[in-house]
Amino acid sequence: MFMGGGTSSQKRQRTSKPPVRGEDKFFSITVDLKDVLNDIKKHIEYDRYTVCKACNGTGAKNGTSFTTCPRCNGTGTIKEEERTFFGVFVRNYQCPTCHGEGKIINERCDVCHGSGKILHREK
Ligand SMILES: [Zn+2]
Ligand SMILES: [Zn+2]
Repeated sequence: MFMGGGTSSQKRQRTSKPPVRGEDKFFSITVDLKDVLNDIKKHIEYDRYTVCKACNGTGAKNGTSFTTCPRCNGTGTIKEEERTFFGVFVRNYQCPTCHGEGKIINERCDVCHGSGKILHREK
């Protein structure tokens, strides 16, 4: 009697798929992204400069304790005429008396120390 032959190599094909677990991963990634965005927002909101309300950004006490610069008449720039043979040249340069601000502060604002802006921190 001769038994066997051709019966040992029969394979069963698996048709059942493994369960898909991709959706859980995707969800966790979106949460992380949200956290990162929130973090960036926080950093932007920290340390921002706002106009000092005590002096309306003038840097002078009460917003009125300054005088208009007499040298540049409040323009902050000085015109200098230079007469040459070729004509009159007008040069503009920053007023050294008021440093281009156009005003001279008599009393500095206590809140912003004369800068006209305050550091505003937000959470
Ligand atoms: Zn000036
Ligand atoms: Zn101020």
